[in-house]
Amino acid sequence: MVVTFSYDHPLTTSVRWRFEFDPLKSVILCYKNELEHVFNLRDNDVNNLTEARHLGILRKVDLSPSSDIQLSCRKGLNAYFGIADTGTCLLNPLTVCSLYNKIVIPTVLYGCGLWNGLKMKDITSLETFQHLIVKHIQGLPMCESMINIERLPILVKKRKLMFLCKLCEMKAESLTKQIFIYRLYQFFGDTFRKQYGFIQDVINILSKYSLLKFLTNYMFTGTFPTKFQWKNIVSSAVNPIERLQKEERMRRDNDFVKFLRLSENNNYDFLWQYAKISGILLTAKHIAKLWTTPPTSGNCKLCGHFVLDILNHQICMCTELQSQRLSLSNRLTELTSFNFVYTTVSKSEESFSDLLLGNIEDLCDNLIPEHRLEVLNEGFSFLKYCKL
Ligand SMILES: [Zn+2]
Repeated sequence: MVVTFSYDHPLTTSVRWRFEFDPLKSVILCYKNELEHVFNLRDNDVNNLTEARHLGILRKVDLSPSSDIQLSCRKGLNAYFGIADTGTCLLNPLTVCSLYNKIVIPTVLYGCGLWNGLKMKDITSLETFQHLIVKHIQGLPMCESMINIERLPILVKKRKLMFLCKLCEMKAESLTKQIFIYRLYQFFGDTFRKQYGFIQDVINILSKYSLLKFLTNYMFTGTFPTKFQWKNIVSSAVNPIERLQKEERMRRDNDFVKFLRLSENNNYDFLWQYAKISGILLTAKHIAKLWTTPPTSGNCKLCGHFVLDILNHQICMCTELQSQRLSLSNRLTELTSFNFVYTTVSKSEESFSDLLLGNIEDLCDNLIPEHRLEVLNEGFSFLKYCKL
């Protein structure tokens, strides 16, 4: 059991909260000044340490969650590569992602309700861990956006909010509940002192997502949404804001211009969904690389000429792909119409490239779903010849 107290002797605290300390299982973590004297419980000295593990969670006297976060990320990597070694490279990234969510995330986020006062370096540790996993899941250095995965720092916030709901739902006679209520009213009663810890963190999160009214209402009326209701309230408050911020971050980054253009009429995980339907994962991975590689100038790997945009050149101009381009054009004309192909090609190199890469907005009005899939298949088959 973890009990925090300020100046009282542990025995005074134990009398107040009506429980007994086991001297052999207890340690003292002194969070402020050095202890001047030795504490005893019955006839035993109690060790004075700088860190201790409680229910698998590391508590340190500097109150920093950094070591615990790094340890959790290492455990997460072990858990992930334990699964990955069983051959996940042959699976659709969406399937591996679901395994990651079910097996790895609970390992990494165990006890994250107590990660208070996260600093930038802690957030970076969590982001770096997830970037590494996502790259491995997709088999290429691609962005997280393609598998619609939630950022770990956001999951930590959501878990803290769910932990708050759990505390509010506890019975009044439970010790944890009594400590929570005591600390909650102490927080609002002492507004002059800078405060740290779970209550401060949770209030910051509630304020950010305009949810503070639920806690103040609880303090006045004792009622809080049920777990199910709260989960929905939290998702509806957090998800749109995070989605907006994610899109803004991508819009500010030139590397994402092509990716955003291609995915604006599809879902971000469009290519992995396509791989699920068509069963051709390798092609989807190749197209995903083309989607996420920003336009690059250089020498074409097929004809050797220097060009400003290698992919657009290979799709529209490269002499080495002339016969493949001709048969693609014939096949597309059969599936759609001469007019459609002619109009798309004459618009710009970019619009023809986008069509082959899967931005099928123009097709949606003219074609039935089966034909759209056939056009996609034809485009993707041609793109197999492109080399960046
Ligand atoms: Zn070329």
